[in-house]
Amino acid sequence: MTLGAAVLGSGGAGGLAAEVAELTKGGEHRPGVVLMGLGLYSRGELAPAFEHTKVCRLAGVITGSRDKGLKWSRHYGFPERNIWSYDSMHEIAGNPDVDIVYVVTPNGLHAEHTVKAALAGKHVICEKPMANTVAECDAMLSACARANVQLSIGYRLHYDRYHIELDRLAREKDFGTLARLSGEHSWTFRSRAWRIEKSLSGGGPLMDVGIYVIQAACRAAMAQPVAITARELPKTRPELFNEVEETIEWTMEFPGGVTCEASSSYNRDANNFRAEGARGWIRFDPAYAYRGIEVETSRGRLSYPAVPQQALHMDDFASCILTGRKTPVSGLMGRDHMVVIEAIYKSAAEGGRRIVLPAA
Ligand code: NAD
Repeated sequence: MTLGAAVLGSGGAGGLAAEVAELTKGGEHRPGVVLMGLGLYSRGELAPAFEHTKVCRLAGVITGSRDKGLKWSRHYGFPERNIWSYDSMHEIAGNPDVDIVYVVTPNGLHAEHTVKAALAGKHVICEKPMANTVAECDAMLSACARANVQLSIGYRLHYDRYHIELDRLAREKDFGTLARLSGEHSWTFRSRAWRIEKSLSGGGPLMDVGIYVIQAACRAAMAQPVAITARELPKTRPELFNEVEETIEWTMEFPGGVTCEASSSYNRDANNFRAEGARGWIRFDPAYAYRGIEVETSRGRLSYPAVPQQALHMDDFASCILTGRKTPVSGLMGRDHMVVIEAIYKSAAEGGRRIVLPAA
């Protein structure tokens, strides 16, 4: 059982307390996490999440700004010697304070940064999307395998209570097979930033947030898609989106006739997922939020206590390292999703041709 499942499945803190007590008995080492890239997500969500972690702790940072690192060291109480730059990060090799590097840089740098962390002998959590291409994912997986370190992708929703209920419905077929799936994740992009530079982002909204619909659909179908068709919609702001798509729609076909109609845009706000079987349905809106997910089903509304998704993910990964258990949100899952994303872009580029995916 994963730590997240232990927490959630046992009805609360009891399961976590027991596993944490076991993992940290005798005051054993708490795995140290170094955050790499101190932008919005690190600042707004990951660093604060360490207030809720019981297994791992924030041990340091890798940043392009020494001044920022010093502020973080004062604020979060890690030693100044645990501030590294992108160029000096190889020095973490052999440092007993550091067990995990958490890569939170732009997508196009994930491969380079993950490989560097692995070469330094550290376990890695890498943010989604895993990389810009499947080839980069393969390089990351090889580097981690060679270094004998684990690689996890920042799929925080794996630990969310509502999404765990989706897993249960898929598995136990309460509503029958969840055969008709749909979802959208979109937001209105207003600034000029790395997210619209192809070399750093790998693509537009699909890479950024559309990936969440892929993850939810694969969970509901309990499978990888077998075929993809996609089309890119005309750009309303071509001056902004001259390197990446502005809006994209795609269909995923899964084994057994299960389908998912999905879309993602930088030109509107939407955050939903729906799964329907012969005997009922479940609808999430918002579906992919850090908190405040709302879910209705054909049997009524669901109401679960909020969970600190990021803290559960980091603690679960830390517990994987301590116990040798494999992370349930692995680099292989990140690669699977990149295979789908590449097929979506390929289909859209080829006028909506149906792309058949290789069997997983
Ligand atoms: P951001 O722009 O706020 O931060 C990026 C950080 O990378 C900055 O500190 C920046 O200085 C650093 N950086 C290093 N080299 C850079 C370069 N060449 N160009 C630009 N920045 C560079 O971005 P963010 O929103 O924090 O996103 C970072 C990663 O986290 C992305 O991969 C994104 O997809 C992911 N993310 C995940 C979630 C989630 O819910 N799991 C949420 C937000 C972002």
